[in-house]
Amino acid sequence: MSDSTRLRIAIQKSGRLSDDSIALLKAIGIKLQIRDRLLIAHSTNEPIDLLRVRDDDIPGLVMDGVVDLGFIGENELEEKMLERQAAKKQAAFNTLRRLDYGGCRLSIAVPNEMAYENIKSLEGKKVATTYPFLLERFFAQKNVNAQAVMLTGSVEVAPRAGVADAICDLVSTGATLEANGLCEEDVVFNSKAVLIQKADALSDEKQALVSRLLPRIDGVIQAKE
Ligand code: ATP
Ligand code: ZN
Repeated sequence: MSDSTRLRIAIQKSGRLSDDSIALLKAIGIKLQIRDRLLIAHSTNEPIDLLRVRDDDIPGLVMDGVVDLGFIGENELEEKMLERQAAKKQAAFNTLRRLDYGGCRLSIAVPNEMAYENIKSLEGKKVATTYPFLLERFFAQKNVNAQAVMLTGSVEVAPRAGVADAICDLVSTGATLEANGLCEEDVVFNSKAVLIQKADALSDEKQALVSRLLPRIDGVIQAKE
């Protein structure tokens, strides 16, 4: 078993949030020795362990209280929260800070040749996405009867493959959409990386450590502004 007195933080093992999350931890003075293959990384100067996992697993690890803190994109966090609420599972957490990286938007895009006026144009259509709960909430808010079709990858090729009429996917520059003959039409959700904490109270020692780290994070973010 791991040492329960050490603050356990989940971060994405490799992907768009990994480098910025590690850079932030280093910028606030946490020394880390990261070995690429390993699930756990220990800090050499603070009682902190990193758990390096797929980003999809991070909201659940925090909500189940398996880790104390997690760095995660709001898109993934909100989707997992809706999914867990629907399944009547524990979905509580606290957001400590909204961070200055990981910015992207979850958008609806349609094939260039499709006639699109507004979201009502999707009435009766199928929309491929990795975020069915966020998309279905959006459809419900807009009073549109459209169907979310879950795909965990290659969402942008779904219309060409005849799997869906449109897509709802993460966009930052729009280059991937353009390369696939898709046009961005509606933003469903704006996202950034956030630092979250489990809902159950931490030990006094761990909470004191978190309280010491947060002002340093604020300092690093302000210095970049
Ligand atoms: P994993 O193997 O950990 O599951 P992944 O392929 O699901 O990785 P990434 O592509 O690394 O995830 O994206 C992780 C997060 O980075 C996204 O959920 C989102 O919050 C953020 N992000 C920022 N910009 C983009 C973008 N242009 N496209 C996709 N995600 C982005
Ligand atoms: Zn993922």
